[in-house]
Amino acid sequence: MFIKEEIKEYITIQDVINLLNEALELDKSAIKNLIHQKVSCNKKLAEHPTIHVSVNSKNTEFKVSLLGMLNGLFGIADNGMGVIEASYYVICPNGHEIEPNKTIYSRCSICNEQLLIDLVGFKQRGV
Ligand SMILES: [Zn+2]
Repeated sequence: MFIKEEIKEYITIQDVINLLNEALELDKSAIKNLIHQKVSCNKKLAEHPTIHVSVNSKNTEFKVSLLGMLNGLFGIADNGMGVIEASYYVICPNGHEIEPNKTIYSRCSICNEQLLIDLVGFKQRGV
């Protein structure tokens, strides 16, 4: 069902985070793919003052993502990071409970499978 909402002239960081979380809840697979998608870009875009672009170690290849663009709306924090952050949990692919000290480089202590990270939501960095 389509619910018409009025056009907003201004949005907050929380508005963007709420929309991302709402979309993640509706279609986790699609939003995971979208968030992890990175597109090659040129140095001019990489040098933009607020858009977040990842760069390889040789400083020759640049990639931009949706989150990098959205973070570009709100500027850069003192630590150089964007304000909108994706949150991940370390999970077992077979759904076993994981001890809090495990990382993605660990294996599940129950089934011995390599652990994975799972996108669980979006939040404001440092909040
Ligand atoms: Zn397991």
